[in-house]
Formats: sequence, structure tokens, C-alpha cells
Amino acid sequence: MSGEKKTWMRQPIIVVLGHVDHGKTTLLDKIRGTAVARKEPGEITQHVGASVVPASVLKKLAEPLRKYFPKLVIEIPGLLFIDTPGHELFSNLRKRGGSVADMAILVVDIIEGFQPQTVEAINILKEKKVPFVVAANKIDRIEGWKPHADTPFLESIRDQSPRTLSLLEEKIYGLVGKLYEHGFEAERFDRVRDFRRTVAIVPISAKTGEGIPELLALIAGLSQQFMKKRLVTSEEPAKGVVLEVKEEPGLGTTIDVIIYDGVLRRNDVFVVAGRNGPIVTRVRSLLMPRPLQDMRMHEGRFINVDLVTAATGVKVAAPGLEDALAGSPFYVVPSDDKVEEYKRITQEEVSQIRFRAESD
Ligand code: GDP
Repeated sequence: MSGEKKTWMRQPIIVVLGHVDHGKTTLLDKIRGTAVARKEPGEITQHVGASVVPASVLKKLAEPLRKYFPKLVIEIPGLLFIDTPGHELFSNLRKRGGSVADMAILVVDIIEGFQPQTVEAINILKEKKVPFVVAANKIDRIEGWKPHADTPFLESIRDQSPRTLSLLEEKIYGLVGKLYEHGFEAERFDRVRDFRRTVAIVPISAKTGEGIPELLALIAGLSQQFMKKRLVTSEEPAKGVVLEVKEEPGLGTTIDVIIYDGVLRRNDVFVVAGRNGPIVTRVRSLLMPRPLQDMRMHEGRFINVDLVTAATGVKVAAPGLEDALAGSPFYVVPSDDKVEEYKRITQEEVSQIRFRAESD
């Protein structure tokens, strides 16, 4: 083999699913807040349609957990969270043979337990073979709970009464039973022996922040341990998926793309699926959200960049995107003689999706 291609480990792509009102949005807000408050200067945490918790933040959060998980060393550059929770956007993250999402957080209100959309989410995750952890949310609502803001769960429980702890255990075993009914062995995360066989349940409060350090450290640890191969990417033409198609003032129709592999540059030729067949066009501009602190000095919500690398969420402006389809694959065409081949691949993938949707 000749030619050394640069390779790197990318951020795992994480989605949040669960029943309405169980706290998905609150959890994502809390995670974003944590990432913004604790990042190093210069780290970009806001992407288009996604947010990144950088490695520096994961390391800080994992620090107080060192005595419980001495072997945890953060190797990934961060975690990329899809900003919009729920099934609908998740279904746009399709890729051949599965999902662009590497892992999911299934949020369940610990007081209410399983609800119809919890079951729906489990079935979708099963079908797409996406591994998940359960965030047992709203522990602060357990009778007698004494809140400890932004503290690891394992520390907070040391200050809870025996009665409150036993109520917590009861609720967790309710979840373990429900997960068993759906074909999963499950256990509280700190009692799991083999994470390949057992779904971890992390008790959290999206409101107080309790348990969030463990939740993030666990996802980082699991993805490093079990998906290393899947997370390695290189300096190849970008692959992605169209999350949303959006009209933007001054830019025309744009697509918000999650790039899960390779590098995307300005002027790259790419293919996406359109209502009337594949669209072949060229990147006019790549746009990332403008950092909040610059908003006052500059016009516009976006800044132009020359290139982005996986994993990222980016807005792509290009001519001819009016008919582009959300959920379409996005492929940079490596050379002119490959245009027809990539059109065919894109078309095939989309017709499979349509066929499945119609047969539902
Ligand atoms: P979503 O529909 O799953 O996105 O749920 P939301 O994030 O909108 O939350 C629904 C309601 O539950 C809101 O009123 C939140 O403030 C509240 N909530 C979410 N997480 C917690 C939590 O950990 N503790 C408490 N007490 N309330 C929460």
C-alpha cells in the first residue's frame, strides 16, 4: 500500500430519544450548557443541528469519577449530540444497513416509567441496531431527594436517606423489568459487569445535573471500547446524511448535513437525492454557527469555513438544492468519472428507503 492517509478517531454521534415530557430537551440543554461553560477557549461546540461536548470537558467531568472508574481515559475528541431529540429526526439519520447515530440515550421519567413512545423508541433502536443507555431522569422528584447541583450520582446518593434510596431502587427495578420484557438485560450502570450484554441505566436529573458526569463518561467509555473501528475516519471524500433542507435569507435553499466520514471542502462536487432524482452540484459555501460572543460585532448567524472534518454538523449552500430530500445520503464525488456511479448509489439507497416506508 502506498500513500500515507491521515486517519483519526472521530466523535461518536449520539441521539436522544424517549417519551414526550420525559426530559429530552432539558437533558440536551443541560449537556450543551455544560459544554459551553467548561470548554477551553477556541473550542467550537456549536455545530449546525448538533453540539459537541469536547474531550477537555469530558476529562473534567470524568475527574471526580476517577475513584470509581480508575481506568477511564478519554481518547475520543468529544461527543457529537444531535440537537433535536425524538424519533422524527432520528429517522432522517439513516444510512445503508443502519443509522448514522453511533449510540442513543433513551430518556425515561423515573416516576412515570415506560410509556408508549418509550416502547416505540426501543423498537426503532432494535431495528437499526443502535446501542443505547437508559437515562432514568427526574431523580430529584423521588420523595425526600436532596438535590446536589451538577454532582455525580454516586456522590449524591451518599447524602440520601435510606428510605429515598429504597424508593430509587424500586423505580430502577421497575425499569429493569420493563427492559427485560423487551428483550434486554439491564442494570444500574455501576453494577454492570459486561456492557456488551447488559444495558446500563444511569439515574440522572436533567434539572439539577446530578448523574450527568456519569452519563457522559459512560457514553465516552463505551464508544471507545466497543466501536473503535467504526469511529476511525480518514482524509477521504466526505460521507454524510441530510438532516434538514432549509431556506435561508440570502443563501437560498441550503441543506444541514451530518458528516460521519472524511473531509468536506468548499467547491467539492457532491450528490444528494432529490424529489426528481439525484442532484449533482458543487459546494458554494460551508457554514458553521457564529460563536455567541461574536454575534454583536458581526452580521449573520453563520461563518464561512473552507473545510470541515468528520464528525460534524454543517450547513451546505449550493445551487440546485430546492428539491433535496431530508434523510438523503450525501456523498462527495471523488472524481469526474465517478459521477454516474454515485448518482446510481444515491438513487438505490433512497428507493430502498421509500420502499420500506411504503410497506410499513
Ligand atoms: P421532552 O418532551 O422529552 O423534551 O421533555 P422536556 O425536556 O420538555 O421536559 C418536560 C418537563 O419536565 C419540563 O417541564 C421540564 O422542566 C421537566 N423536567 C425535565 N427534566 C427534569 C428533571 O430532571 N427533574 C424535574 N423535576 N423536572 C424535569
